[in-house]
Amino acid sequence: MDPELVEKIAEHYRAIIKLIGEDPEREGLVKTPTRAAKALLENTRGYAENPAQILQAAMFDHQGSEIVIVKDIEFYSLCEHHLLPFFGNVSIGYIPDGQIVGLSKLGRIVDSFSRQFQVQERLTAEICDLLCQELSGDVIVICEAQHMCMKMRGVEKQGATTVTMQYRGAFQDNPDLRAEFLALCK
Ligand SMILES: [Zn+2]
Repeated sequence: MDPELVEKIAEHYRAIIKLIGEDPEREGLVKTPTRAAKALLENTRGYAENPAQILQAAMFDHQGSEIVIVKDIEFYSLCEHHLLPFFGNVSIGYIPDGQIVGLSKLGRIVDSFSRQFQVQERLTAEICDLLCQELSGDVIVICEAQHMCMKMRGVEKQGATTVTMQYRGAFQDNPDLRAEFLALCK
């Protein structure tokens, strides 16, 4: 982590702390701007990553055409409207088209796309689009998340879960295949 960048961001946090009427010099807060700056960089590290490269680094030839499902990949993101966390899990299904990808890489790309300012719909679509582009034309992605901007601000019922789904190819053409994926994800 670039210490100069951390300090620049910390400077802004110090100003924000003052603006809300707190004292950035009091004991409990004195290191907070630096910690908050580091946390922000950590939570937005996806901007510095290249998810396509991550995938390409671990693709293997494969002859089968049975559905591959990786479910409940945990993620943590920041909503781009309030910069508050939203988090949950992503499940991915695809039908190999000559190649498969190392399973841990699917977790890495979910992490790359989620460690940015995001909206859940785009997060889901970006994962699906990348897999379509690099891996197979038959992809389905489902994302379930809880949004702190809904919970903390009391807009929605506590515990409300938002579900988004994107699919392409065979998953689009064949509702039974979609149903099979959803049943296996349960
Ligand atoms: Zn929000």
